[in-house]
Amino acid sequence: MDVDIVCVGFGPASAGFLTTLSKQLVNADGTPAVESATSPGLPPQVLCYERADDIGFGVSGVVTKARALRATFPNLDRAQIPMTVPVGEEKVLYLLDPIGASRRSATLRAADAMIRTFKWILPVEHDALNLPWTPPFLHKHGGLILSMGQFMQWVSTQVQSTGTVQIWPGTPVSQALIEANKVVGVHLLDQGVDKKGKPADGFTPGMDIHAALTVVADGPVGPIGQQLDAHFGMPDGHHTRDWAVGMKFVVDLPADTPLKPGTVLHTFGYPEPEIFGFFYVHPDRVASLGIFVPSWFDSPMRTAYRQLQHWMLHPYLWRYLKGGKLRSWGAKTLGESGRRGEPHLVGDGYARVGEGSGSTNVLTGSGVDEAWATGTQLAEAVLELLKAKKPFTKQNLDEAYVKRRRASWVEKEAVVAEKSRDGFQKGVVRGMIGMALAGLTNGRLTLAGDPVPPWKRIPSIEEYYRGRISPEEIAKLHEECQARNRSLHGALMEKAGWPAIPYDGRLLMSHQDALLMGGKVQAPAGYADHIVFLDPELCEKCGAKICIEACSGQAITLGNDGVPSFDREKCVHCGACIWNCAQPLPDNPERTNIAFRAGTGGLHSAEN
Ligand SMILES: Cc1cc2nc3c(=O)[nH]c(=O)nc-3n(C[C@H](O)[C@H](O)[C@H](O)COP(=O)(O)OP(=O)(O)OC[C@H]3O[C@@H](n4cnc5c(N)ncnc54)[C@H](O)[C@@H]3O)c2cc1C
Ligand code: SF4
Ligand code: SF4
Repeated sequence: MDVDIVCVGFGPASAGFLTTLSKQLVNADGTPAVESATSPGLPPQVLCYERADDIGFGVSGVVTKARALRATFPNLDRAQIPMTVPVGEEKVLYLLDPIGASRRSATLRAADAMIRTFKWILPVEHDALNLPWTPPFLHKHGGLILSMGQFMQWVSTQVQSTGTVQIWPGTPVSQALIEANKVVGVHLLDQGVDKKGKPADGFTPGMDIHAALTVVADGPVGPIGQQLDAHFGMPDGHHTRDWAVGMKFVVDLPADTPLKPGTVLHTFGYPEPEIFGFFYVHPDRVASLGIFVPSWFDSPMRTAYRQLQHWMLHPYLWRYLKGGKLRSWGAKTLGESGRRGEPHLVGDGYARVGEGSGSTNVLTGSGVDEAWATGTQLAEAVLELLKAKKPFTKQNLDEAYVKRRRASWVEKEAVVAEKSRDGFQKGVVRGMIGMALAGLTNGRLTLAGDPVPPWKRIPSIEEYYRGRISPEEIAKLHEECQARNRSLHGALMEKAGWPAIPYDGRLLMSHQDALLMGGKVQAPAGYADHIVFLDPELCEKCGAKICIEACSGQAITLGNDGVPSFDREKCVHCGACIWNCAQPLPDNPERTNIAFRAGTGGLHSAEN
């Protein structure tokens, strides 16, 4: 099929692109403002394919300054978008360890002791220090708390009601079509195939969609972005080594909650110092809350789910959560390399927008507004080129899109943020100081720390637990867990002093129950496995098997002969396994032994 423009993914970046573009393709009298090259007499034909089974199922994001969103919708009526409220009270909290099980440096232990000693004069309550002052760059004052899923559903209605754009959910793009280094469109995923992709009953090959412009907006771990990175390479010095997995609960707070809609709480320090937390209150007693487990968390026990439960049980938070109920649950990767992770933004026939194009601001932790802004910049560029009847060559896209992006606030703030997190490579305290320095000096001062890929950082289980659990005890637990086909992290964490989780069947529940009740994970039949263990021999030799411990959906388990096995029906498409895998590819150490390909299914909730 031939169209004018095809988009990969419907997240905030392509939503910004399509909203801006669709408003200007048709004149007030209904005639095309610019004409389609494939359907003469009509406005350009624009298609957007989204992997997730419905609109809003594949995205995340809650609090935003909403600068770019408001620029597009100056009269935004919050009442039309469920779960939206202006940002109210904001607090940043340092959580002390009330259990004594977390792994803290001597500096942090000394700081904790000081806070506890002077708690009568400090703003300390329920084992948390409310920071009396927070740097302005952390504030979201004047912004909005919303549900990205709900917002995306609203935007899709706006966009499609113009009649100029079609959005197709449940339709993954399996690859970009590249001819002589020019992207000429996309290929959609084959249906009716077995786990390995071989034709089976009801085989329907995916269509080829040819387009003059392919907009790649498939997020931080998108397979099309990865394909282009592999084909065209990354600009010199650029890489994507910094990541975090964000895991989130959407919760009904108890009826008597004292928390007001608009409340924003950010936490650090617990359950492990490296783990950041967020707690945002929507209208009607609904809250979105969760944690980010970053790639510089040097623990082989990287399961976000277990850590999230300990975080929720912290006395400061649990007093608000006790009696609450899980509504939905999800996980997603956050690309934390920022501008340093920027790929080639344009080439002949393609342009990249959003987080996969390095737009997320790693100092402020803001990604939605930036992704949206890059989408609008591309739309303005495309309109300019269409009106001038100029083709979508690398040179023309450079002049029209990249130039706009470089001149915008997104770029200026990304430059300030670029090295702001490098300090975390050498510890949390150094990381926090580095962030403050970068934020307060507009990026002029930072603390050095060379980002290395996660596989280089993660110590063995024996090293990590040295002095706490003996290698013999670890081996015994390993055997027991293997015999029961259970992941090891729970057993090890409990041995190291973490209490068992007191399941209540409402908010605290097993990982599997959360998948069923809150995650609502589904996977339609007839598609190939989208997680592939590339070299089984590397897996056989791999002692850490971090892919199993890190999997957000317990979709990766121990298989035969030491090669993990993958259950498509439990995968939430978070992408965490690709950057957590402990083995680099021999011919490309920037990539690991797991391929994350296009796939259907995943979470069925538009509240995330
Ligand atoms: C838990 C969590 C909380 C966050 N909270 C905030 C916050 O409060 N504020 C904030 O500003 N930012 C937040 N972020 C960051 C923010 O979500 C991202 O920066 C932003 O969503 C990036 O937008 P995007 O459009 O570039 O990519 P995405 O939102 O990732 O959208 C990409 C879309 O492409 C689809 N896709 C992927 N592959 C394919 C394919 N092959 N074919 C078709 N479709 C495909 C995906 O399903 C997805 O819908 C958060 C991130 C996480 C993980
Ligand atoms: S996928 Fe990676 S982490 Fe998992 S067993 Fe294989 S090499 Fe090890
Ligand atoms: S297998 Fe799926 S759920 Fe598990 S880490 Fe990978 S992408 Fe996430």
